[in-house]
Amino acid sequence: MLNRVVLFFYFLGFSFSSSILAQTFRGEGGIIIDYADDISPTIYELSVEGLPDTSSSSFGLETVCLHIRHAKTRDLKIELLSPSGTLVWLSNRNDDPMHYGYFETCFEQNGFNGSIINGSYRFSGSYHPEGRIEYFNNGQNLNGSWFLIISDLEKGDIGKLLEWSITIGDRPATYDVQFCKDDDLYTCMRDRYNEGHTLLPDLILSRKLTIQNIEYFPDTCSMSPYRNQLRFAAAMANIGDGPLEILGNGDWRCGKQKGNRTEPCPDGSYPRQQVFQRIYSLARDSLLTESKPGGYMYYDTQPGHNHFHADHWVRYSLLKKKWWRKNPKKWKVISTSDKVSYCLYDNMVCTDENMYCTDKEELYSKHNLKNYGFGNFTACNSQQQGISVGGIDYYGKFYEGQFLSIPPDIKCGTYYLLIEIDPENYYQEIDEDNNTEMFKIEIKEDKNGVKYLN
Ligand SMILES: [Zn+2]
Repeated sequence: MLNRVVLFFYFLGFSFSSSILAQTFRGEGGIIIDYADDISPTIYELSVEGLPDTSSSSFGLETVCLHIRHAKTRDLKIELLSPSGTLVWLSNRNDDPMHYGYFETCFEQNGFNGSIINGSYRFSGSYHPEGRIEYFNNGQNLNGSWFLIISDLEKGDIGKLLEWSITIGDRPATYDVQFCKDDDLYTCMRDRYNEGHTLLPDLILSRKLTIQNIEYFPDTCSMSPYRNQLRFAAAMANIGDGPLEILGNGDWRCGKQKGNRTEPCPDGSYPRQQVFQRIYSLARDSLLTESKPGGYMYYDTQPGHNHFHADHWVRYSLLKKKWWRKNPKKWKVISTSDKVSYCLYDNMVCTDENMYCTDKEELYSKHNLKNYGFGNFTACNSQQQGISVGGIDYYGKFYEGQFLSIPPDIKCGTYYLLIEIDPENYYQEIDEDNNTEMFKIEIKEDKNGVKYLN
C-alpha cells in the first residue's frame, strides 16, 4: 500500500514538474551554407502565433531544440533571434571531436547536462546555452517570426540542420534574482551601504573555465589550422559591489581625423572611440554616477564577431619559470599575445551549481554577492557595454585571439600560462591584485615524438 501511495505522489510530482501550459513550435531545416571568404549566415524562420502578447517571469521561452549533422561543430556559431530583435547565442564554436553534429540538442536555463561549452560528442540532451535565453522573457511579445541563425566560420566542412523547435510556456527561463525589484537603486543601496560608499566592480578570471577548456595543437597537427597553438578559454566574472560599465563618447577617430564607426580608416584599421567607466556611489539622498576615462573601443570584423570590442582587455603569456626568481614578471617569456580585445557583456552568471566564480578559495554567487544582478548587459553595442555583478563574459578556446603561438621546437617540460585582465589598468576596481591567474602547463612527448599536454 505504502508503495502505491509513494508511486502515486511520484507521478503527481512528475506531472507538475514539467510545464503545464507549454506549446512547441517547429521549424524546418536545410543545408548550412559553408564559409566562403565571407560569412553568409544561414537563416531559418519559424512562425509563432496565438500567444499572450507579453512575456514575463511566469510565461515565456522555455526550450530551444535543434538537430544538426555537421562534420565540424567548432566551425558553427548558432544564435536565436526573437520577433522583437533580441539575439542570444546558443552555442559558439564548441567542439565535437567525433565530427557528428548536434544530435537532438536542447537549450534551457537549467540544462541537465550543464553548459554547452563543456559538452561534446553528439551534444545530446539538455544544456545551458552559451548565452542567456532569459533575455527573451523581459516583457517582449513572443508572437511573430523567430530566426535560427547558423554561421559557418571556417571553410571546408559542411552539414545540415534537420529540424528545430522552440517551446514557450509557463516555466520560462527567468532572471535568478531580480535586482532591486520594487525599489529604485538608491533605496536599495541605502539599506546596504554607508553614505559615501563607492560601488566598484571587481574582476576575476574563472580558473575553472580555463582549466576545462585548454588544448595544445603540436607541430605534428599538420592539417590543423591551429597547428603550433595553445588554445584556451578565458572568462571574466565581476564579484564587486557595482557593474563594470563602460560608455562610448561617440567620437570615432582615425588618429586625429574623424572616422565612421563601422568603416575602416585609410590605413585599414578601424576607428577608435574613447570609453568612460561609469562609477556609482552613495550620496546622502541619491545614487551618484561619475565617469572616468577608460580605454578605447572599435568595430571588430573577424568571423563570428561584427560587433564592438573594448581594446586591450586581456593579455596572455606563456612563461618558463626561473626558479631563482619569485616574480613571474621576471620569468622567461616563451610566447605572448598582443593585448586581446573583447566585447563586454554577460553571457553567463556565477552560480553555486556551476562554481565558475572563485577567488582566494571562496565561491561567489547570489548568496554572497549583495548586488547580484546589478547591471544588465545583453549585447555588444557601441554606446554601452559591461559585466554585471555576478555576470561572466566568456570567450571560448576557438574564438579569435584565444591562443598563444608555440615554437615548433619547444622543449618538453613545465610552463605557465599567465592571463592578465585589464593589463593597462584602464578600469577601477575594488581589488586590482586579483586580475592575474597562472596555469601550469606540462608539455610531454610520446614515443613517436608527438608532443601533448599532460
Ligand atoms: Zn567579439
